[in-house]
Amino acid sequence: MKQLIGSLLLMLAGAVWAAQPVIDMHVHAWPYGADGPPDHPKNIAAMEKSLASLAEHNVVLAAASGQQAFLEYWHQVAPDRLLLAPVLPCEGGVNPNWFQYRCFEDGSELPDLDWLRAKYESGEYQLMGEIFTQYAGMRYDDSRMLPYYALAEELGIPVAFHTHSAPPLTANRCCPNFRMSLGDPMQLEPVLVQFPKLKVLIMHANPLVYPMLIDMLAQYPQVYVELSPFDRILVRERFHELLRRFQEAKMIRRVTFGTDGGDHGRSLAAYRSADFLSARELDAIFCGNAGRFLGRPEACKVETAAQE
Ligand SMILES: [Zn+2]
Repeated sequence: MKQLIGSLLLMLAGAVWAAQPVIDMHVHAWPYGADGPPDHPKNIAAMEKSLASLAEHNVVLAAASGQQAFLEYWHQVAPDRLLLAPVLPCEGGVNPNWFQYRCFEDGSELPDLDWLRAKYESGEYQLMGEIFTQYAGMRYDDSRMLPYYALAEELGIPVAFHTHSAPPLTANRCCPNFRMSLGDPMQLEPVLVQFPKLKVLIMHANPLVYPMLIDMLAQYPQVYVELSPFDRILVRERFHELLRRFQEAKMIRRVTFGTDGGDHGRSLAAYRSADFLSARELDAIFCGNAGRFLGRPEACKVETAAQE
């Protein structure tokens, strides 16, 4: 009997976890399988795997950034779950990551502003970035980027910035102008000052490397963070230390969940094993904080049936 109750409790815990709504602020709709269009069989297979992982882990919304053709294709398959975001700039017209498929169908490095405005105003796109200025050797406040931030601020579109580093030898292997120094999150400050209403997401935020991140959150309340891939690449203790930095500074409410295309189960486990986080803090990281940041708190409402 005891055993039966034990396994029932386990099942119940599983059901509650499965019902936990999650917002993933860092997903990529781009070629993972082959350098080619989204309907290349290998790219279709990679897309299906990504979308299945979102469904399996109750990811109710995923901020998906990528190339124009991929955004459109993925959206047709999962229209309700994805928030679409173009990646920019694209040095030479191509995305620097993985396979170098063109970002925009016209081959441009930066999209036409009126074209992009129409995409946001029609509701087809909902976010901007991952912003890859660092890969193109540009500062975050490069004058070529400012009109895009102005557009995002005007329309209330959140902008997500790649920060920190990249895989080893990025400058030699893919992107000659890539510099680590251009990924220091403090370099976002001129953008934050010039566009005080811009909703900013710092991707790959790591206060263990950049302690000033915590002070930036205090100084600039419009800034949120996302912590991939440290949930996966740091040893558990070190990742928990990273989380504690936000908790101790009372900044947990600015932390969102993101995977950067990684395994959802592994990422979620890295947070769930942080027993110093309250259930409320965990819920906020998994969904509520991003819901607030995106202006979509309703996405995090748990179905009553799922709670029973
Ligand atoms: Zn990134």
